[in-house]
Amino acid sequence: MKLIFYLVFALPLVVFAEPNKSAIHYEVSVGDSLKALKISVCFDHALPPILFANDGSSTFVNNIRSNTGRVLDIEVDRINIPAEESARCIFYDVLLQPRNRGEQRGGAETRLIEGRDMLTSIGDWLLRPRSTSEYAQFDINFTMPKGTYVSSPWRRIGETSFVGFNTPVEWEAIVTFSSREPDTISVSGSIFEISVMGEFERTPVADMSRWVRQSAEGVSALMGFFPRSRVQVVISPSDRGNSIVPWAYITRGGGAAIHVFVKRDASLEQLLWDFSLPHEMSHFMFPHIDSRDYWIIEGLPTYLQHLSMVKGGAITFQESWSRLYKGFLSGEKLGRGFTVVESMRRLTRRGTYLHVYWGGAAYFFQRDVDLRMRSEGALTLLDILVKYHECCYDEYQSISGNDLLADLDVLLGDDLFTRRKLIEIETEDFPDFRTTFKSLGIQFLGNKPVFEQNLSNGLASQIMSPVGFDR
Ligand SMILES: [Zn+2]
Repeated sequence: MKLIFYLVFALPLVVFAEPNKSAIHYEVSVGDSLKALKISVCFDHALPPILFANDGSSTFVNNIRSNTGRVLDIEVDRINIPAEESARCIFYDVLLQPRNRGEQRGGAETRLIEGRDMLTSIGDWLLRPRSTSEYAQFDINFTMPKGTYVSSPWRRIGETSFVGFNTPVEWEAIVTFSSREPDTISVSGSIFEISVMGEFERTPVADMSRWVRQSAEGVSALMGFFPRSRVQVVISPSDRGNSIVPWAYITRGGGAAIHVFVKRDASLEQLLWDFSLPHEMSHFMFPHIDSRDYWIIEGLPTYLQHLSMVKGGAITFQESWSRLYKGFLSGEKLGRGFTVVESMRRLTRRGTYLHVYWGGAAYFFQRDVDLRMRSEGALTLLDILVKYHECCYDEYQSISGNDLLADLDVLLGDDLFTRRKLIEIETEDFPDFRTTFKSLGIQFLGNKPVFEQNLSNGLASQIMSPVGFDR
């Protein structure tokens, strides 16, 4: 919606610059095996000095030449284009080498699911110039084998055509080639394109879409809209362990995407009870944070997943308080005398993840309660996030954690976010969630929340309030 607003009102002023016109044009022909690609990329203006991929791509990319006949080489992760090259197009072939064994544990990768559905990491095959105003946007068209479908995080303009923003080359994205047509749903005006890879035992595709819908409704109810207008959701089967969602991550390359691995025999009921999808969706409440402030990056979704799951009707408010309390206890316990910031620096050590994630969650919980307390419920953390989306959220730029907190402070007209960070994240071992629960009139018997009626200021039920969707 925001983009449409921008187009309508800004167009007369910038008609000569044409910022929303693609200057890069890709044609991708996908072979029957889904592994062999023939790609052409043409530029409206001069070729950029360098085209980038990831550092494994030199193994997959070959036969690179320009339309003037010049033969080019890929060096590790890039093609250097000679300054005197007058061509406008580069052609190259790709032979993907998908993984097909083991389980994924990391960001985007090229992987073949059940011998027929392909996940591709664009870093393996999509050679791109650095993101500058000259190369801000591309269009891409696929020629697919009969009976196969393509999905991407980019804006869909046809069955096999997309327009993408040329985000930083380091930002990952997944493009799928699949035998199953993606399902598209709309939630609060945002489009979710859902691609289910492989086969599941108990959850038909329609139930997967229902899971996505219900999760998105809960997250949308936090701010009144979903933080991104278009989201690609890829669901792949997993045979690892007992966890319902053993692995999930988001990507931001060219647009928003979520990739979830789901236990092959998971039921819809189990999926709705799981926090992973609402958590991943909540990552888009903030833009890309490039300062490795994992306490912010993971802390906000870890807090908000509880609120959105109650809003969407996935769990009760009692269950949600109980999960939040258990999480804080586990995070605090694993701190072992370190501050959250110190734990973040030793993140790879076992256990410190929980201290960092839950420490961040407790910080955002406390800010939410601070704001509600001082305004008697009139102002919440979510209101500040809405303001942030209206003024400052940029889908295609990174921001540092400190700058983000400073922006929130400006919107609030106070130094609350920065000041409390110094105390709770950098000085003390863990945010003092016990006092915060007490101020809300919540005690815990074991993990069970008990609400003190005479102490209640109504804020506890305001925080964990179901919306009551008509389903
Ligand atoms: Zn996360």
